[in-house]
Formats: sequence, C-alpha cells, structure tokens
Amino acid sequence: MIMGGTQSEHKLINADGKTRYDGRKLDELRPISIQAGVLKRADGSAYVEWGQNKVLAAVYGPREVHPRHLQNPARAIVQARYNMASFSVGERKRPGPDRRSQEISKIISEAFTSVVFVEQFPRTTVDVFMEVLQADAGTRCAGLTAASVALADAGVPMRDLVPAVASGKVEGVVVCDLNKEEDNCGEADVPCAILPRTGEFLLLQMDGHLTYDELMQAMEYNRKAALVINELQKEALRKKYSIITLQNNEMKEEPPKETPEVPQEAPPAMPQAQGPEGGA
Ligand code: ADP
Repeated sequence: MIMGGTQSEHKLINADGKTRYDGRKLDELRPISIQAGVLKRADGSAYVEWGQNKVLAAVYGPREVHPRHLQNPARAIVQARYNMASFSVGERKRPGPDRRSQEISKIISEAFTSVVFVEQFPRTTVDVFMEVLQADAGTRCAGLTAASVALADAGVPMRDLVPAVASGKVEGVVVCDLNKEEDNCGEADVPCAILPRTGEFLLLQMDGHLTYDELMQAMEYNRKAALVINELQKEALRKKYSIITLQNNEMKEEPPKETPEVPQEAPPAMPQAQGPEGGA
C-alpha cells in the first residue's frame, strides 16, 4: 500500500483487524496534552503535545491594521501563519515559508475567519502564529487546535472553540488520527476542523482516494474525536495554568510545570499625580 511514496517495513494494521501497530484501536486518538497561557508577551497562547507533535500557538490582537489601506472597514481580518521549525522533522527542513505552509496558513485563516466575530472589530487584524517544534503528522490539526485555545486565551470572541483531527485509510482500513508512518504509508488522509456545538465542518481536506462510505467513516471518526479534543480545550482554559492530558482515553490533570522566577526590575518612580486643588 503506497500513498505517500513510502512503504512501511511492518504491518500497520494488526492481524486482528481491530488494532494498529502502535497499539491503538481504529478509532483511538494519540495521547494529547493542552496547556493554555504559556507565553507572557502574547495576548493569548497555547502549547499542544499530540503524540510526537509539539506545537506552540500565539495570538496578537485585535490590533489596528498597518498599512491602513489593508484595513477592512466592515470587519477584522484574521491572519494565521503556520511554520514548521527546521529541527521539527528528521531531515533539516529548509527554513521559511513554502507552498505547503502557505496553503496551511491560508486554510487556517479561512477557518478562523468564519468562527471569530470579525464584525465586532472593524479595521483590525487578529494575528495567529503556529510554530511546529516537532512534527509527526496531523500538525495542521494540532496547530489549529492550539490556535483556537490561544484565541480564547486572548479573549477574542468566537462562535465556539475549534478542535481539529485527521483520520484516514491505512492498509484498506479507516483509522482515526494518523501518525507519521500511517500518514506516509497509508492511502488517504482527511483532516477536518469541526464546530462542536453545531457539528459544522469548518475545514475538510482529502489527500488520496476513499470510497463514499470510507469518507463518511473518516468524517464520523473525526466528528467523535473532535468532541473529545474540545473537552480537553475547554478544560485547559478552565485550568489555565494546569496541564490536561489524554492518556489511554482518560483525562488527567497535572500541576503546572515550574517556570523559573524572572527578577523584576523596579519600575521608575513616577511623579505623584496632582489633584485639581493641588492635592494628591
Ligand atoms: P500534517 O502535518 O498536517 O499531517 P502533511 O500531511 O503535509 O501535514 O505532513 C505529514 C507529516 O509529514 C508532517 O507532520 C511532517 O511530520 C512530515 N513533513 C511534512 N513536510 C515535511 C518536510 N518539508 N520535511 C520533512 N517532513 C515533512
């Protein structure tokens, strides 16, 4: 079975037809952990570990668009930028934007434009940055999931949080949340972003070949998995400074990781404000 041009050295679906070589069931997600509010200087941020994927998201805005001729007087523009670090993959990736990252940035911008209440912030931009620190398939979905938490952390009003996940077909079997080997050696990949409240699909892509029934099965796996991921997103925001982890389909809470105290410089003494009568 060759889709991505490579052939796996071992069977990806076990002989029982119900489990995968990494031990997961056909409809099982990889372990996921989401942490909200990880960056001090961004308006909102989130960090997601998803299997071997590690993705950081930061949000700035809404802030005024410069240059001004790019402003939209009717609504905010949402500009997402997806970037994969050179060290995120096995072979060093050439740094900077390429066709793939531009395509992913565009589809994520479009997905968020339809979920953020953009009419409330005319002439502004909401900038969403996703940095993939380690990649192992499903990074656009991990990026979108992280960015959605970062947008909520920034207080940007949205219709809903957006979970995303990619199911696909491996050795003739539809499976949920492809890992790198399944993505590279499988026959199809279907990333989706879903609005949990309405079940709307904000993003649907397909790479490879599936029958109608297989596509419906992949979308159903994505829909169900999105509800689980959405719970993690909400829980991460609720416990902003805790880490919520999915391990063997069970949600766990860990205390926040210790961050070293940065010595604060004392602010310069301000002159005392004078009241109208000259008093303090
Ligand atoms: P996604 O990460 O959303 O699944 P793709 O299907 O395009 O996106 O990529 C699958 C995986 O292939 C990535 O997660 C990454 O591990 C790997 N990959 C993608 N682009 C490159 C690249 N330029 N160099 C090395 N590996 C890459």
